[in-house]
Amino acid sequence: MKIAVVGETRPGERRVALVPGLVSRLTDVSTDVSADGTAEVAVAVEPGAGAAAGYTDDDYRQAGAVVAGDALRGADVVLSVQPIPEYRIGELAPGAITISFLPAAQELDLVRALRDGGHTALAMELVPRISRAQAMDALSSQSFVAGYRAAVVAAERLPRFLPLSMTASGTIRPATVLVLGAGVAGLQAIATSRRLGAVVRAYDVRAASAEEVRSLGAEFVELDLPTLEGTGGYAREMTEERSRLQRELLAPHVADADVLITTASVPGRTAPILVTEEMVAAMRPGSVVVDLAAESGGNVEGAKPGEEVTIGGVLVWGGANVPSQLPAQASQLYSTNVVNLLLHLRSGGAPTIDFDDEIVAGCCVTHAGEVRHAPTRELLD
Ligand code: NAD
Repeated sequence: MKIAVVGETRPGERRVALVPGLVSRLTDVSTDVSADGTAEVAVAVEPGAGAAAGYTDDDYRQAGAVVAGDALRGADVVLSVQPIPEYRIGELAPGAITISFLPAAQELDLVRALRDGGHTALAMELVPRISRAQAMDALSSQSFVAGYRAAVVAAERLPRFLPLSMTASGTIRPATVLVLGAGVAGLQAIATSRRLGAVVRAYDVRAASAEEVRSLGAEFVELDLPTLEGTGGYAREMTEERSRLQRELLAPHVADADVLITTASVPGRTAPILVTEEMVAAMRPGSVVVDLAAESGGNVEGAKPGEEVTIGGVLVWGGANVPSQLPAQASQLYSTNVVNLLLHLRSGGAPTIDFDDEIVAGCCVTHAGEVRHAPTRELLD
């Protein structure tokens, strides 16, 4: 079996789908299972694939991979972070399995090309978030990276101390950080801001998040509003009325914060606007807003993905591919998710696509000339 790792071509993407340290997890297992030598695994990496994440071609060679310009040729499995570009589909071997993030609704032409090529496309963001798939959960691993980065960016941009400091020259009060959305990224932003010494408050619409927020030493902001639990541990969308009320009740907390970090999202929907420009402008001048949801519509009115804008003296940083800003570790975690999925598919031999398996059924977008992911199929019909 041949596994190819392709170089990322999308602007700003610095991650790589397989770090050198995990090559042996793929090749070693083959040694275990291939008593007759038939399941031998070769890992081929395109030159420079890991460069932007700090991994050299030599690192891959030393790890037992082959570095070759034609890595893709004849590969049974193709690993990438972003989906393989449409212009490269013709290079895939018949029936190849691609494993990557694949935002299918936004990539319908690519999905058609993968379907028509008879390829199996597995989307990392569709891996079901069930306990036995936790080690394959790339949404969580990358949100974890983004949450850390959000807190560090905010601390760096804020022109003041975060921790309480008592010195002979006087006392410096701690900065206040408000985190809206306490899921995976939000909890990591809370933990990091706490470690940096800030006083942290957080709000989320899910009841379960309150205990998680408190367990990190932060204060949960109680609003006199019903919770919005959806299915699978996710939030539900807000009504317009609820949205208005939430903004009204959050306004004094936002005005009081030195740093606002927003991470709220609802699966399959545009991110909810939680904070208006007016609310931002009411913060003290020099305050900092980090909107991790900027790419999916934004939680903060006026935030722009990949840009810093100023609203009424407040700096608003809009996130764009934030995990890629810490590419070595983001790649390491993503690679672990991908390798675990691949080993799950193989379970002792060549990868098999078994639709009785909840994990495969959940994340398979195309297979054997069909679109298997129902919401994407509806968009194509
Ligand atoms: P997400 O990225 O979809 O959303 C981030 C957060 O925004 C969520 O906590 C959500 O409740 C919150 N949010 C949505 N609308 C909001 C609003 N109007 N105001 C304030 N907050 C709002 O979610 P996520 O971080 O990927 O995951 C959320 C939860 O899903 C986790 O905390 C966990 O409970 C569950 N989860 C389970 C597993 C698993 O079982 N394997 C894995 C990952 C996550």
